[in-house]
Amino acid sequence: MIDSPMLKHLSGYIGGQWCDADSGETFAILNPANGKELARVPAMGEAETERAIAAARGAVSMDYDLDQRREWLTDIRDALNDEAEEIGRILCLEHGKPWKEAQGEVAYAAGFFDYCAQHLDELAPRKLSQRPKDCDWTVHFRPIGVAGLITPWNFPIGMIAKKLSAALAAGCPTVIKPASETPLTMIALFTLLHKRLDLPDGMVNLVMGSARAIGDTLCRHPDVPMISFTGSTGVGQHLINATADQVKKLALELGGNAPFIVFDDANLDDAVTQLIGNKFRGGGQTCVCANRVLVQRGVADAFTEKLVDKVRALRVGDGMDDDIDIGPLINAAGFDKVRRHLVDAIDKGAEQVAGKAPGELDSSRGLFFPPAVVRGVTRDMDCCREETFGPLVPLVEFDDEPAAVRIGNDTEFGLAAYVFTADADRAARVIAQLRFGHVGHNTGTGPTPEAPFGGMKLSGFGREGGEEGLFEYVEPQTVPRGA
Ligand code: ADP
Repeated sequence: MIDSPMLKHLSGYIGGQWCDADSGETFAILNPANGKELARVPAMGEAETERAIAAARGAVSMDYDLDQRREWLTDIRDALNDEAEEIGRILCLEHGKPWKEAQGEVAYAAGFFDYCAQHLDELAPRKLSQRPKDCDWTVHFRPIGVAGLITPWNFPIGMIAKKLSAALAAGCPTVIKPASETPLTMIALFTLLHKRLDLPDGMVNLVMGSARAIGDTLCRHPDVPMISFTGSTGVGQHLINATADQVKKLALELGGNAPFIVFDDANLDDAVTQLIGNKFRGGGQTCVCANRVLVQRGVADAFTEKLVDKVRALRVGDGMDDDIDIGPLINAAGFDKVRRHLVDAIDKGAEQVAGKAPGELDSSRGLFFPPAVVRGVTRDMDCCREETFGPLVPLVEFDDEPAAVRIGNDTEFGLAAYVFTADADRAARVIAQLRFGHVGHNTGTGPTPEAPFGGMKLSGFGREGGEEGLFEYVEPQTVPRGA
């Protein structure tokens, strides 16, 4: 069992109070590195979510001024920075990622609160400099109201930071539902909010348990005008359908299928280094991880050789150990999907050039998946069509620029892409044609608090981070004033 001063209450949080499930039932949180139980948390559902919404409704107000909101944001930033080590430890234990990466995620999370605090004045009322229709015009940015925030397990603190920072910047009360794999980091965050901030009761509420019951209650409840969700496209589509009657505002960051395109004029060593950093972050379980690596045919051998050397040097193990590059996968279903993609690629003619053979991979013996590379991958293979979400690198060869663009765009998803070329004109041409919300040029870096991030096509809509993200939870209200 986990022992932490930040997990004294293994509970939900409603209206400023810690609370358990009405039924008294709990569910187990497992450490993916060893399958052991870390803790049990309350299994909540519809009734608790109704109460959380009522508490949040009570905290809706137009009176939280910019100074007040700035103070909340900077207080959370400071609290996260002060407790980064312990939150990182909890995150590492329940998610499995290397502890240094987990601590980096806490700093990343703090960055969203900092960014919103620094740029909050952009939400001040804007007076038009012109006087159309003989009136003075002012645009107010009103908080939309109670926001439901539903987060996935792959960034247990990063994802909630993106949503909560912007919601609080707008002055919106929130009902938060973490993924059932990783609620402990969220409870640790609530411990900080409870101890270190003087938020109005009902401003932040935490419910966990049945995703379907909690999600559906948020969708059908008239007091929740907005839901922000990060997770799978299937659930995102369900949320669209379930909120259509009430025309709720949604922000959806859904699945990806990122192409990582390497042209023959690219610096191959840099491209390999960037790919390693990008692909294996979080064990390959991020929506911006390269899913398909497209290499121009003339450099495919050289690139593969350099990549395989680096992949073989990666260390897989318990994220709490020092010097680990890749932790366990989150659960057996995740492991089995990566294995299925590997088997499917080999069956359809790809050649495995790094990693263990599928016969040696068995999720019932643990969730550590040694990184694998396959080459000769084609578009009919599952690893090209679906998001693998694990440490499998499929190499696809292409001949020229139009082919790179065509193969890159050959997916219904549009979240992240990467282009490696030394030719600035080519980069500009290719990037303009790629239908992805985030396109790295000679870098594998993912999102940052200072810039908007989000998807196109089936990867969803809405932006988190940057100025665009700051405006997600406000509604502009335009006021012309006559003489
Ligand atoms: P993943 O495959 O990354 O686990 P999911 O979309 O299943 O993605 O989960 C992302 C988040 O959405 C989690 O918090 C999960 O509990 C929640 N979720 C799953 N199903 C639903 C649903 N029907 N309604 C609302 N939220 C859901």
